[in-house]
Amino acid sequence: MKTPCYFDYNATAPIRSEVIDLVADLMQETGNASSVHGFGRSARSHVEKAREQVAAMVGTQNTAVTFTSGATEANNAVLQKFKEERILISSIEHPSVFEVCDHAEHINVNDNGAVDLQAFEKQISEGKPVSLVSVMLVNNETGVIQPVGEIARIARKHNKDVFIHTDASQAPGRIKIDFPALLTDYMSLSAHKFGGPQGVGALISAPGARPVQLLHGGGQEKRQRAGTENVAGIAGMGLAAQIADREINQYNKLALLRDKIEDALLNTISAARIFGKDAERVANTSCIAVAGVDAQTQLMSLDLEGFALSNGSACSSGKVNTSNVLKAMGASDLEANSALRISIGWGTTSEEVDAFIAAWTRMMERMKDKIKTA
Ligand code: PMP
Repeated sequence: MKTPCYFDYNATAPIRSEVIDLVADLMQETGNASSVHGFGRSARSHVEKAREQVAAMVGTQNTAVTFTSGATEANNAVLQKFKEERILISSIEHPSVFEVCDHAEHINVNDNGAVDLQAFEKQISEGKPVSLVSVMLVNNETGVIQPVGEIARIARKHNKDVFIHTDASQAPGRIKIDFPALLTDYMSLSAHKFGGPQGVGALISAPGARPVQLLHGGGQEKRQRAGTENVAGIAGMGLAAQIADREINQYNKLALLRDKIEDALLNTISAARIFGKDAERVANTSCIAVAGVDAQTQLMSLDLEGFALSNGSACSSGKVNTSNVLKAMGASDLEANSALRISIGWGTTSEEVDAFIAAWTRMMERMKDKIKTA
């Protein structure tokens, strides 16, 4: 069988080869970053270098960065910090924000999947003061970029004490991130989404933010996150951050390949819906539904042909739920359950894209009697 084509960068991106080399080298080194001897000091220096690299990627100071096990941990901790207070979250958040506080109120998005700013302003100006607003920077299913800076500005206009959090997991390397300009207090990151290792991430906190305790029981990470640091993983995240930031312009060129896919698919099935097509989107993501053609069946068929993709629905541990994101964008169940997410990246070639278009077209020819009107 030929090498499968990996079109699932939003689930996890391949680790950059330079990062693999660095992580492998550092795994040969012994040393607890808290030890005072030379081994410890060396481990510490790797952690601090990575802190500098991650801070530089988001345009902030080193002291703002707390390393975590990923964005899930950072998202959970921020939401939990405010769990007794009024919280607004967008209706398109990742489950690691969406499922943390049952009482969190949802902010609507428009049909293009961007937060509806007028509705948000009305919501925040009414009722009890809001303590936390959480809106992601880039949506993982559609790639739609959210107006986070504007959301923060509106929120502060109505309540100067409000805190703002953004889950920026899908943004590094795709859009330039300027943490101070976004006016947010907290930002979550996950290394494996931008070429770093899995199981490492960061919470970025602004100077005036309420301190968020991630783990208890040790003095690491300025007492905010106890536990021996994952030195090699953290160093890998730092290097990946540097590479991601350097290659944003390259990444933007992926829009040509994405548009080629979308044009070809729409040419074959004009009734296909591309979620967020008219919104500002990152260059690598396309979420497309042909109503009635079950996404799971499409995924299996494409997998057999050598293409690795995701469905547009939240899927973990083999359980598929109808996507809260697509439903919030006004998709019918029929559409949401037939949505495929194509997410390409730096390793994707134009030959792979052509082969995918051919395989998808063959598949649709076989499944055309399933197509329904949404
Ligand atoms: N937020 C978003 C937008 C994501 O796409 C993901 C990963 N699917 C996460 C948070 C969680 O990241 P991790 O699993 O690395 O903690």
